[in-house]
Amino acid sequence: MSRTALESRRAFAEGTVTATELVETCLNTIERHDAKLNVFLTVADEQARRQAADLDRRRDAKEPLGPLAGVCVAVKDLISTRDIRTTCGSRILEKYTPVFDATVIDRLKQADAIVVGKTNLDEFGMGSSNENSAYGRVANPWDLDRVTGGSSGGAAAVVAADFVPLSLGTDTGGSIRQPAAFCGVVGLKPTYGSVSRYGMVAYASSLEQIGPMARTAADCRAALDVLAGHDDKDSTCSRTPLKDSSWNQSLKGLRVGWVEEHWTDGISEGIAAALRSTREWLEGQGATFVPVSLPHARYGIAAYYLLASSEASSNLARFDGAHYGLRANVKAEGRSGNGLEQMYSQSREAGLGPEVKRRILLGTFALSAGYAEAFYGKASRVRRAIQQDFLEAFQDVDVILGPTTPTEPFRAGEKVDDPLAMYLADVFTVLANLAGLPAISFPVGFTEHPLPLGAQLIGRPFEDRALLDIVERFQDDTDWHLRRPSSLNS
Ligand code: GLN
Repeated sequence: MSRTALESRRAFAEGTVTATELVETCLNTIERHDAKLNVFLTVADEQARRQAADLDRRRDAKEPLGPLAGVCVAVKDLISTRDIRTTCGSRILEKYTPVFDATVIDRLKQADAIVVGKTNLDEFGMGSSNENSAYGRVANPWDLDRVTGGSSGGAAAVVAADFVPLSLGTDTGGSIRQPAAFCGVVGLKPTYGSVSRYGMVAYASSLEQIGPMARTAADCRAALDVLAGHDDKDSTCSRTPLKDSSWNQSLKGLRVGWVEEHWTDGISEGIAAALRSTREWLEGQGATFVPVSLPHARYGIAAYYLLASSEASSNLARFDGAHYGLRANVKAEGRSGNGLEQMYSQSREAGLGPEVKRRILLGTFALSAGYAEAFYGKASRVRRAIQQDFLEAFQDVDVILGPTTPTEPFRAGEKVDDPLAMYLADVFTVLANLAGLPAISFPVGFTEHPLPLGAQLIGRPFEDRALLDIVERFQDDTDWHLRRPSSLNS
């Protein structure tokens, strides 16, 4: 198995390996294996090689090195990267190259991490299987016929397949955690407002965050330390720093919530069993389990898809053929014709996929005069009720443990014709987005197949480090995160 992010950093700093060697190994793996997975939409080989050479020179000159020096990172293609194409998985941005870096990319570069390329995703982050990408689906490294989950499927697969130790995903309703569970890696959705969204192409701004994906919680922590913190360029970015956690030595006294309502939702037997073992492990460490109730959780999916689509219908208005990317070639029609409107609609018709169009239509309808109160207003009230449920639960517990997904990774094509079944894949993840809470998915077992199984921990606002500490303790004691898929061996 290749090095973790922290191991790469150490090996590079100690001189056991050069940054150029780290980058070449990574580019070589991509070249050899990516045809099977379809992860990379753009490989930034030139930039990565240049940065590696500069890092090698700086190390030789004994200049100070950043906390992620030499670490190869893959970035979900929804995050703007200067001089590297950023497609958002959409035809409409096929030829779009940003002239600026997102704040998270700036911070990665300041930390001396090396961005090696951009990973596949569901178009504009809309999907739960990566089958909504205009550039084809990503194959799950554990079984190439199955989905990776979405929308950060590429960012999850690239870590599971050991191409890179660390990637960045985005999570609006579960897009970091659900693919992390399906691919057997760790994925953290930070507290809303703790990581800048500047330069992340917006889908549903009030719900989403950028976060790290890696094999270990320790790597996610190293990334979070670099990414988190106030940013003047994002007005929703908080000035409250992430709290230090008291769970880094022992879990004795930790109170873990166990949501009764979750156990009636048709969870697969494998996931239920792995969750019970995780619970036993935590109890063995001195944690106590407390039943908690989230009475409004059952309305989470309905509220999420209304709110997310409403925000999407407004955020995606900028993709009109005039401001960015693809423009339909519409002939001027003289004074009476409306060439501009035709250009807008034909550019969108050609440039956007069916799921994106469905969400724009749904969101426009939900916000339209006469209906806004019945749909958007009601969904907003459900959102507040869910936030309140969590507030009450967190009076009795420190974290909440539950499944990340109801099922194991499903087969490609299985749910594409049934959007509602697809939306239900997010039943456990959307809650943390609606409430703005930090949440992490981590590997807790495998089916016989083997297919990975994930568990989710949700924490109080700004207590992201507590989640990382608990998972780190778990990974000290278990080896689920060390298993690797065999599909790429040949
Ligand atoms: N699957 C959810 C959706 O389609 C979540 C996506 C995300 O988190 N970006 O909206």
